[in-house]
Amino acid sequence: MAKDGQRGAVTRFAPSPTGFLHLGHAYSALFAGSLAGEAGRFLLRIEDIDRGRCRPEYEAAIYRDLEWLGLGWEAGVRRQSEHMDDYARALETLDGAGLLYPCFCTRAAIRAEIERSGAAPHGPDGPVYPGICRGLPRAETQDRIAAGEAHALRLDMARAAVRAGPLAWHDRERGKIEARPEIFGDVVLARKDTPTSYHLAVTVDDHIQGITLVTRGEDLLEASHVHRLLQALLGFGTPEYRHHGLLTDDTGQRLAKRHDSLSIRSLRERGHTSEEVRAMAGFEIV
Ligand code: GLU
Repeated sequence: MAKDGQRGAVTRFAPSPTGFLHLGHAYSALFAGSLAGEAGRFLLRIEDIDRGRCRPEYEAAIYRDLEWLGLGWEAGVRRQSEHMDDYARALETLDGAGLLYPCFCTRAAIRAEIERSGAAPHGPDGPVYPGICRGLPRAETQDRIAAGEAHALRLDMARAAVRAGPLAWHDRERGKIEARPEIFGDVVLARKDTPTSYHLAVTVDDHIQGITLVTRGEDLLEASHVHRLLQALLGFGTPEYRHHGLLTDDTGQRLAKRHDSLSIRSLRERGHTSEEVRAMAGFEIV
């Protein structure tokens, strides 16, 4: 496995404790650790905003598995659930700039509207939101919120794109990438069930943690379009990126948490050494 850590970088591994880590996570974590390089720093972040799916035993297993793999991270693990204030501040900034609107739609209402209109552009996260709540009068939204109606907060993408102007970022492997956040449509930045979202929390955290090189699987390459836009709107600097390929199973399917036989825990319990598991993930002893 090539070592790309010639410049000291600040990198992170940011798993969600919604299952046991598998070989694909081992690869991703070792990849981030190796890119920090000897002069760099490697941080760990626990992405636990999804309170319904996260479990303390999965979080404990993350620490255990990473230690067992021989990965050392800097003290001070950031747990997203403890930083809701940071996300609220970012939302205030965006709201103050007139870039957010409350959305009361259920999934069913969105689906029905998409079927009715017959035009459903697809973004990386699925069908693009058809804008049902975008133009609601302020008096109505205020009344509905006051009445306790559940709502998400969406980014008004067209306005945000105008405000930010053309943007790009640098991926260490792919070079300069022009940002096209509009492919996502009006993304949710605060969910109905939790007052933040993946896109917002990751962007705010990478900034606060001083990450200089974001590494993650290429399944999240497109998310970087939104993150780049949020950085611009929030006045944050832009890290470098490096999106790595994903490990697959024998049938070519991408590894997922359901591949229990390839969880690090189960490989360990079946008697594999950490050196063997590192090698399976493509990382010989470094
Ligand atoms: N928490 C995300 C995951 O487990 C990764 C987030 C990121 O690296 O941006 O897939």
